[in-house]
Amino acid sequence: MPKPPKVSRRNIAIHCLKCRTLLYRYLKAGSGGLVKCFVERITEDRTAGDLRCPGCGQEFARLRMIRGKPAHKIISGKIFTRGMTRK
Ligand SMILES: [Zn+2]
Repeated sequence: MPKPPKVSRRNIAIHCLKCRTLLYRYLKAGSGGLVKCFVERITEDRTAGDLRCPGCGQEFARLRMIRGKPAHKIISGKIFTRGMTRK
């Protein structure tokens, strides 16, 4: 059995840019900017699951299927990320 390649993973917090409400915590793989969130890697969800901010109601992502898995594609300019602590 080949070992899976080592991928750096960071636990990040995703906030609404408009009202700063925490939307969810997410286990991000690799480096670079956040474009999409795989649903299976969301570790803590503060939304109602409708891809809208519970604080101000703005839509911040759209549901897409990426490689057969549901993912939230982030709408640019709607969120900001915090806490890039290494795992
Ligand atoms: Zn908001």
